[in-house]
Amino acid sequence: MKQRLTVLGSTGSIGTNTLDVVARHPDRFDVFALSAATQVDLMLAQCAQFKPCFAVMASAPHARLLAEKIKVNGLKTHVLQSPDALEIIASNEEVDTVMAAIVGSAGLAPCLAAAWAGKRLLLANKEALVVGGDVFLDAVREGAATLLPIDSEHSAIFQSLPEDAATWSQRVEKIILTASGGPFRTRSPDTLRDVTPEQACAHPNWSMGRKISVDSATMMNKALEVIEARYLFGLAPSQLDVVIHPQSIIHSMVQYRDTSVVAQLGTPDMRVPIAYGLAWPERVESGASALNFHALSAMTFESIDDHGHRDRFPGLQLAWDALAAPQGTTAVLNAANEVAVAAFLERRIRFDQIHHLNLATLEAVSPSNPDSLKALLALDAQARSVAEQAVGRMAG
Ligand code: NAD
Ligand code: MG
Repeated sequence: MKQRLTVLGSTGSIGTNTLDVVARHPDRFDVFALSAATQVDLMLAQCAQFKPCFAVMASAPHARLLAEKIKVNGLKTHVLQSPDALEIIASNEEVDTVMAAIVGSAGLAPCLAAAWAGKRLLLANKEALVVGGDVFLDAVREGAATLLPIDSEHSAIFQSLPEDAATWSQRVEKIILTASGGPFRTRSPDTLRDVTPEQACAHPNWSMGRKISVDSATMMNKALEVIEARYLFGLAPSQLDVVIHPQSIIHSMVQYRDTSVVAQLGTPDMRVPIAYGLAWPERVESGASALNFHALSAMTFESIDDHGHRDRFPGLQLAWDALAAPQGTTAVLNAANEVAVAAFLERRIRFDQIHHLNLATLEAVSPSNPDSLKALLALDAQARSVAEQAVGRMAG
């Protein structure tokens, strides 16, 4: 039996890499549904190639345009347009696997729908778990869903852990997430105020969407990943460590009680964790090139406490601060950061103001234990509105 797949965010960096892997294995996968925000022409090309039953666009005008083009091209894909269209394609009974590759908290509701419906949920959309927290994990448990990480670090950790999750807490001393340090690893912290969106999006090792590229430049991406790891692997925040490894060869590590360290290595190509999630527990060809150890010159590491990294990347510590604060604080942090990154990309605030905006929002919004999707979405909206007001003050 082929796996029937929904790809949420199919036109993005993770979405297109997912379809690249899927196209290599027509015997294993059928595409049931695709979704995107605004890229009508790329979506049309994907519909022509993968022949999904359904396609969803985030806005009505884009959906209408896609429906016209699908008709003109004689395709059979049905364009769905309703407020709950993403939830429908994520939870439809014909679907086995959902790739969650929307960026930001916009992906939370369809992730929860897939979890409640018991799907195999491949999670690239880390913001959904950072916002959803225990509500997300409860949905996975209640729906008996299978949650598999796609983020390269979390895939590496998952590949380095024993199969039986019940043994993790007894055996594992700590998890060490690696970070490349992004484009500004050696830049003087007091010049970060002059950084442009183009510079921030030019990552040395990975080609990614603009939001996660800016997050990598501030290292807020690693902060979100620490929170993501906390929920995925159920360890205490004090068991989560971050080390800078500029070559991005080791994708993360697990240190066991006996000090033994198990790591996963590979070239920086997201098709590797995507292929792993799609085929798990099997392994299939991913299209990535293999590491060539004969040509590797060095693997180096830098402590986050050296080289001025704490001044350069002040946002990283917010992960542990938010995890120590009441439930919902990680959702507030995520909302603030989404607003801040968007404002930076629109050149309304400076690069160094992203952190100030995150701090100001955390200070202004006190969450009261959100325990449902509705409560989480309300908290997300409240934090966004506070952050938008702070942008207005900073930009003005
Ligand atoms: P991207 O910007 O390239 O793509 C985002 C996709 O989501 C696009 O298809 C876009 O149309 C869709 N989308 C955006 N906003 C939407 C909305 N409001 N409603 C519906 N659809 C919307 O982003 P990406 O780099 O592919 O990242 C996707 C997710 O995967 C992010 O959460 C990111 O943190 C995570 N991730 C990405 C990478 C990477 O290498 N790109 C690695 C690890 C994790
Ligand atoms: Mg990552």
